Amino acid sequence: MISKRVQRIQPSKTVEMTSRVAELQRQGREVLRFNVGEPDFATPEHICLAAEEAMRQGFTKYTPVMGILELREAISRKMEEENHVSYLPDEITIGAGAKQCILAALLAICDPGDEVIIPYPCWVSYPELVKLTDGEPVMVPSKADFTLDVSAVKEVVTKRTKAVMINTPNNPTGAVYDRKSLEELAALAVEHDFYIISDEVYEKFVYGGNPHVSISSLSDGIKERTILINGMSKSYAMTGWRIGYLAASKEVIRAVNVLQGQMLSCVHSLSQKAAVAALTGTQEPLQSMIREFEKRRDYMRRRLSRMPGISCRESMGAFYLLPDISGCYGKSYRGITIEDDMRFTEYLLEEAMVAAVPGSAFFAPGHLRFSYSNSMEQIEEGMDRMEQALNKLF
Ligand code: GLU
Repeated sequence: MISKRVQRIQPSKTVEMTSRVAELQRQGREVLRFNVGEPDFATPEHICLAAEEAMRQGFTKYTPVMGILELREAISRKMEEENHVSYLPDEITIGAGAKQCILAALLAICDPGDEVIIPYPCWVSYPELVKLTDGEPVMVPSKADFTLDVSAVKEVVTKRTKAVMINTPNNPTGAVYDRKSLEELAALAVEHDFYIISDEVYEKFVYGGNPHVSISSLSDGIKERTILINGMSKSYAMTGWRIGYLAASKEVIRAVNVLQGQMLSCVHSLSQKAAVAALTGTQEPLQSMIREFEKRRDYMRRRLSRMPGISCRESMGAFYLLPDISGCYGKSYRGITIEDDMRFTEYLLEEAMVAAVPGSAFFAPGHLRFSYSNSMEQIEEGMDRMEQALNKLF
């Protein structure tokens, strides 16, 4: 018998869509992938070489549970320089991707019935990870422009609030939270004594010169209450290497390390060496990836905005666009009527072989999430196909 806990959890819609598209491609169908949230770029060469060298040198055994010191030192330096916040290497733990770090953090702080406030639209996994810990996700809407609505958060704070989980730059909206709203949230956290779980995995992908602000850098009081989540997957095109990390107070780190020691022993040793090379080596591949993403974002948004029934808000960060497709509701073609974003996703997949993720998976019904982590050529082709499919509806 499967536990009630697991039965309460939804499978990940992003992961599910990735498998479905892979299956269609395996069958020879030419699906264009705008569903998957991973850079299409290869992991930079110097990072791969560092792993290869480590393997040849026999660096293939268990490492310390919290990760090798060399990596935690590199992360500590990076946070000091880029995020303007000081974490000692023993206030940092390495996990198997940011997702696993979030779960470990939630397990470390949540008792059954504890509430975790999640502004939405949000990444598919947040509410499910909270449920896995027997905590209760409390969903609050973001502002109409998808930025953080601190007054909406304030309204749902109770004695049982254990944490607020934020994600800036945001998956799926591309919103970037400004300093002022983060300061207001930080003040609320200090006043009511709850944690902020701050997922900053898209921190490098901020366009138009806006800064990324780490909430933990705002004061000592908020640093003490922040669990900062980050990882190598997005910044260094290293999704498969599974290196995430969390930085937090010594108390939280101690608890997380107990859990990680029982669940994980350690993260892949070679990936850790690769992560050191990523952080300490040339940042040029990252910079050119950012420049390319910005071009793709502008192009894709322009194309989407011109399509009938679609409106697409500007996205300031990450590599996603979340167009509103509700203008297509009620339209039909070949017996399919667009009634919701799920139906629209199916229509696009069937009619245009274009894959995206329905917004309702991210608590954004009436929208679709497009990832522009695909070549410009494929984006052009995808937008052409989508336009043709839409012209059939109108
Ligand atoms: N975070 C990415 C996404 O939203 C990767 C898949 C996942 O783990 O959800 O598509």
